[in-house]
Amino acid sequence: MKLGLDPATVKGFLDPHEGEALIEAARTQARKGPVLEIGGYCGKSALYLGAACAEAGELLFSVDHHRGSEENQPGWDYFDAEVWDEKAEAVDTLPFFRETIRRAGLEGTVVSIVGRSIDIARRWRTPLSLVLIDGGHTMEHALNDYRGWSPHLMAGGVLAIHDVFPDPADGGRPPFEIYKRAVASDLFAEENAVKSLRLLRRL
Ligand code: SAH
Ligand code: MG
Repeated sequence: MKLGLDPATVKGFLDPHEGEALIEAARTQARKGPVLEIGGYCGKSALYLGAACAEAGELLFSVDHHRGSEENQPGWDYFDAEVWDEKAEAVDTLPFFRETIRRAGLEGTVVSIVGRSIDIARRWRTPLSLVLIDGGHTMEHALNDYRGWSPHLMAGGVLAIHDVFPDPADGGRPPFEIYKRAVASDLFAEENAVKSLRLLRRL
């Protein structure tokens, strides 16, 4: 599927093969209802999911407070000085996200929701066809995302989890922990695994 924009020109943390797997799943899912991602950052995953939603005439909701995760803060491994807002004295990825969506021609498809994932999850009412969890990587945030958003998946919906690393040497534990919980719960069956992306079907 043709993207409106070369993903290599967008800051972010998604491998192109993972992006392709997301598109493939979202193309079918978006015909059944809206898609939602937690963790928009500069719009890389939204570029893929949004393309699939546009094709289906559906919406992608992208949840992010746009202040960055722990690892995006000054002094940490994934800090990027270009996304530092001097006035706010904080990370601000929202202008970058917006620019990506505009360049990709997805302004009518991608709806940005700026706020904390847990606050939005608690008030959410619309069944979702696919949810990508790619937000905060502490155990607290990963668990909040899993517990807060998985009940909003429709039957037959897809739960996608990014940064799942079975080997601790490759990365942090929390996304792997929620993946294990989902699979152990009998509510989800694993369907696809590409690099650190896992796609589970809500039964
Ligand atoms: N999906 C993106 C990467 C997301 S990085 C890509 O494809 O490149 C993780 C994002 O999660 C960061 O932008 C951070 O601001 C956001 N985030 C972390 N904790 C959050 C929370 N509790 N609520 C909302 N957003 C959060
Ligand atoms: Mg990620």
